[in-house]
Amino acid sequence: SSCGHHQDEEDRPLKKVKNIIAVASGKGGVGKSTFAVNLAVSLAASGAKVGLIDADLYGPSIPTMFGLYDAKPEVVNKNLVPVEKYGVKLMSIGFLIETDTAVIWRGPMASSAIKQFITEVEWGELDYLIFDLPPGTGDIQLTLVQTIPLTGAVIVTTPQDVALADVSKAVSMFRKVHVPILGLVENMSYYELPDGTKDYIFGKAGGEKFARAQGIAFLGSIPIGREVREGGDSGKPFVLTDPESVTSTALSGSAREV
Ligand code: ADP
Repeated sequence: SSCGHHQDEEDRPLKKVKNIIAVASGKGGVGKSTFAVNLAVSLAASGAKVGLIDADLYGPSIPTMFGLYDAKPEVVNKNLVPVEKYGVKLMSIGFLIETDTAVIWRGPMASSAIKQFITEVEWGELDYLIFDLPPGTGDIQLTLVQTIPLTGAVIVTTPQDVALADVSKAVSMFRKVHVPILGLVENMSYYELPDGTKDYIFGKAGGEKFARAQGIAFLGSIPIGREVREGGDSGKPFVLTDPESVTSTALSGSAREV
């Protein structure tokens, strides 16, 4: 096989990266990118050297979530230099194509773009390199798990049955290729009404129950919050405005155990 594990240590891509973590989901729209961005920013704020790859080639949202609309990576010695913001080194297809241009690629092209993000970007020394994967279990995910040794995957889901059905498939994929699942995060767990009661819009604790049933660590629940959405749209991730948030503590804690 062309699996990265069999290459010489010298040639291995990302050999100066201590932990390579994929953030994955079954379905789109569950908050995977939001989570990946806030995880990266909170790890960087805690002093770690962090990189973030937007592997969601068909719907890159990292440029928007970092407020980088016109950023273009420099090219040095034929390699791309990551764009840097909030202490996080970033690479996204969104930096390389015109905004509003839909990416309509076949699988092999998407796979080779991801390989370039791994092998032709000056990542340097990192404590964490986080991949924001596209939703589901397609070519990009498979390329990734076959090209580099992932430390593990974090799964993001909403509590809704229709999201969990697809999460099952993602879990099976990671297990099949022997990538450890570090844990599951339930996003959009509830909405807190002005009187303090919780409205479980997408059902109650579906993610937590799923994690238990699958023997996966449950990392925590994130409520639906206007600030979370605003953080994504404004280019200033939520954890930078609320450092005490669940996201920063639960996530940097779990990632450090890796
Ligand atoms: P995915 O990467 O899974 O497709 P996104 O991270 O792009 O999902 O999130 C989808 C939408 O939901 C975005 O508009 C984002 O701002 C919003 N969002 C995600 N998580 C939350 C949350 N906990 N509270 C409020 N809005 C959220």
